[in-house]
Amino acid sequence: NVRVRFCPSPTGTPHVGMVRTALFNWAQARHSHGTFVFRIEDTDAVRDSEESYNQILDALKWLGIDWDEGVEVGGPDGPYRQSERSAIYSDVAQKLLDAGYAYESYSTSDEIEARNLAAGRPKAFGYDGYDRDLTEEQKASFRVEGRKPALRIRMPDDDVAFDDLIRGRIEFKAGSVPDYVIVRPNGDPLYTLTNPVDDAMMRVNVVLRGEDLLSSTPRQIVLYRYLIKLGVASEMPLFGHMPYVMGEGKKKLSKRDPESNLFLHRENGFIPEGLLNYLALLGWSIGPDRDVFSMSELIEHFDVRDVKANPAHFDIDKAIAINAEHIRMLEPQDFLNRSVPYLHRDGVVSADSWDELTDREREILSASAELVQPRVRLLGEVSGMVGSLLSDAEYLEPEADARKQLKDSAADVLGKAIAALEPIEESAWTTDNLHETLTQALVEDGGYKPRLAFGPVRVALSGRRVSPPLFESMQIVGKAITVARLKGLLA
Ligand code: GLU
Repeated sequence: NVRVRFCPSPTGTPHVGMVRTALFNWAQARHSHGTFVFRIEDTDAVRDSEESYNQILDALKWLGIDWDEGVEVGGPDGPYRQSERSAIYSDVAQKLLDAGYAYESYSTSDEIEARNLAAGRPKAFGYDGYDRDLTEEQKASFRVEGRKPALRIRMPDDDVAFDDLIRGRIEFKAGSVPDYVIVRPNGDPLYTLTNPVDDAMMRVNVVLRGEDLLSSTPRQIVLYRYLIKLGVASEMPLFGHMPYVMGEGKKKLSKRDPESNLFLHRENGFIPEGLLNYLALLGWSIGPDRDVFSMSELIEHFDVRDVKANPAHFDIDKAIAINAEHIRMLEPQDFLNRSVPYLHRDGVVSADSWDELTDREREILSASAELVQPRVRLLGEVSGMVGSLLSDAEYLEPEADARKQLKDSAADVLGKAIAALEPIEESAWTTDNLHETLTQALVEDGGYKPRLAFGPVRVALSGRRVSPPLFESMQIVGKAITVARLKGLLA
């Protein structure tokens, strides 16, 4: 049974790299009918926040990434927040100490640096193993000085190697990884201890995480070996390190880049299907020449062994294009339901859920769904498309780029259009009839090219350069408002 985990530290707002990690773990669990564990690594009281924790929950729920064991849902190996597991860590630390796998280290960082300097070792050398074999007397005299020890793991004197699921064989030479701290002098356990201990106790057997954590893997493998000897862990997990996500240029996408901010993508109107589809392409592909797929297809085909090790480039334009495809695939009513919160945010409708809209709003939106849905790439674009249809304003101030469309002939065109439209009976105010009437009046009789003929009418009706199809829009808006807006722009 495959057991994977997602174990973010709640610092800051959810970012694209974090979500990709969650997604690949989730997809691996679902593909192999395994278990997805969701734990929170909140051992850093200074950097962690409850706000960030809630945002991570919000993000996973919005995306539809569900978990089998973990925070909120519970499970056999809880609690699932590290801040509630201190007793477990002290207990394991004590066992490691008693077995000699860990030892008390009294050296301060200044002392380590001074020793390295005196011995001519480079600054980056790190800890020199000085406290490995302190006698009881030496320890006692440090304690008399008032010092408290950190606990360090004793690294073995041989190479550490493992087969990464994504990168293949990876070796760390003996001596290249110094003995490292697992518990601070004040008793606080560090990530180096809590992460492998929890993986062991939660029986995680596949660890999938970002490439940035690769350097911590030899240390974790060594600790794991000790945990197995102590009976805390039963088997060494497999490891897979996912490629970096690159931003503009050749730089890693930073958590602070706006393109990295998950909630910004949501505000702009990515739908979960579109965003997850794109994020899955950061290192993985479903097949040649195929970019668009559903989450059930991802689950069917995903295998972390197919993830590529080379850095993946985050391309927002491609992400938006894929989102557009997923918007197009929604049932029209689903599309409308999901658009309403954006419409409400933008002040275009009166409520943020479909059921609370007025009848008129629902009628207009239902009539425009098939016009709008194929023309937006993000739900945030819907407001601009339907705003003029929902408005009962008799004049819409043209946006700047729409005004540029108005040539000298615009006044003549609008005058002729009004003259042709006014006699039409309400009952004959249909898309086909409007198309025919205006084509006759402006193109055939008026002698205008279609763009010059219909451009001003579009600008008058919508205030925008780009809008849903003109004649359909005129039908939806109705005769009175259409004619009033044409007159309004002419005035
Ligand atoms: N809490 C760690 C982080 O947020 C998780 C590391 C891991 O996946 O092992 O980076």
